[in-house]
Amino acid sequence: MNNISCLRCSIKGNIALQCSLVLSGIKPSNLLIYSNHCEGCISEELKNTGAEHMKLYTGSKESVSIIFNREKLEKALLDEENRKFIKQYGYEDFSVNSVIEKLAGRYTEFKEGRAEFPHEMGIVLGYPLEDVSGFIENNGKNYLYSGYWKVYKNAEEKIRLFKTYKDIKKYFVEQIENGKQIYQICFECRKFAEIAA
Ligand SMILES: [Zn+2]
Repeated sequence: MNNISCLRCSIKGNIALQCSLVLSGIKPSNLLIYSNHCEGCISEELKNTGAEHMKLYTGSKESVSIIFNREKLEKALLDEENRKFIKQYGYEDFSVNSVIEKLAGRYTEFKEGRAEFPHEMGIVLGYPLEDVSGFIENNGKNYLYSGYWKVYKNAEEKIRLFKTYKDIKKYFVEQIENGKQIYQICFECRKFAEIAA
């Protein structure tokens, strides 16, 4: 059920298109771009999915939130190499909420044209550090493969991973079109994710 006051609700389709991987338990987070009138609908749609959301940026018409799996994100932030990497951008507290709050500030500065893109976003989204570092070193050029992110190392492994991602996304969107609720599809997709892990 959507927020009753939201007459132009498109949040369910947006969540399916943008967030199937976090909802399937395969990635620690996904970004969700949505119309401001749908803000109240997000919590409703995420009910019983286990996923949480926090706002990164408020725009005049559209805003951006991060939809995350707390357990998966905690795990990514526990990694020593990941910590070392994000520390260089001024992160000191590596708890999920602190990291997202700081990222929100830095992402807002970027969106408002006051700062460069916060590359640590890649770590939060579950991209391998080797690819995030490769992207920075190469200014986004010279990649081996471009899929859900730009790949600089171990391309074959990631091409296989992207194929799984694509299958999950396709399934998720189809099931939404069939009228299922997001939480129902989440649990079905977690079987996929277990196989892929
Ligand atoms: Zn809505």
